[in-house]
Amino acid sequence: MAYIITEPCIGTKDQSCVDVCPVDCIHGSEDDEQYYIDPDTCIDCAACESVCPVNAIYFEDDVPEEWKSYTQKNSEWFKTHETSGAFRPSSERH
Ligand code: SF4
Ligand code: SF4
Repeated sequence: MAYIITEPCIGTKDQSCVDVCPVDCIHGSEDDEQYYIDPDTCIDCAACESVCPVNAIYFEDDVPEEWKSYTQKNSEWFKTHETSGAFRPSSERH
């Protein structure tokens, strides 16, 4: 189980969630339309959920029906992008 970033992130991408995630599992680049949560690393702490200004983040079981495809969209991103497993301070994250 993991938290999932859904459609409202598109066009916002303010990185509030990236800054609070204790395990640095939220990633994305300037070229991406949104940010993504690595389901293999997420510890379900819910810290990101409450800081998102557009309510884009949901626990996997609570993702609204119309955004269910984002569960796969989040995990797929990590199959095609390299992310460092080492912890980095928020100032160095992207
Ligand atoms: S639930 Fe916690 S561990 Fe998972 S992405 Fe959000 S802040 Fe990170
Ligand atoms: S806090 Fe919300 S809008 Fe901002 S990057 Fe994270 S998911 Fe996207």
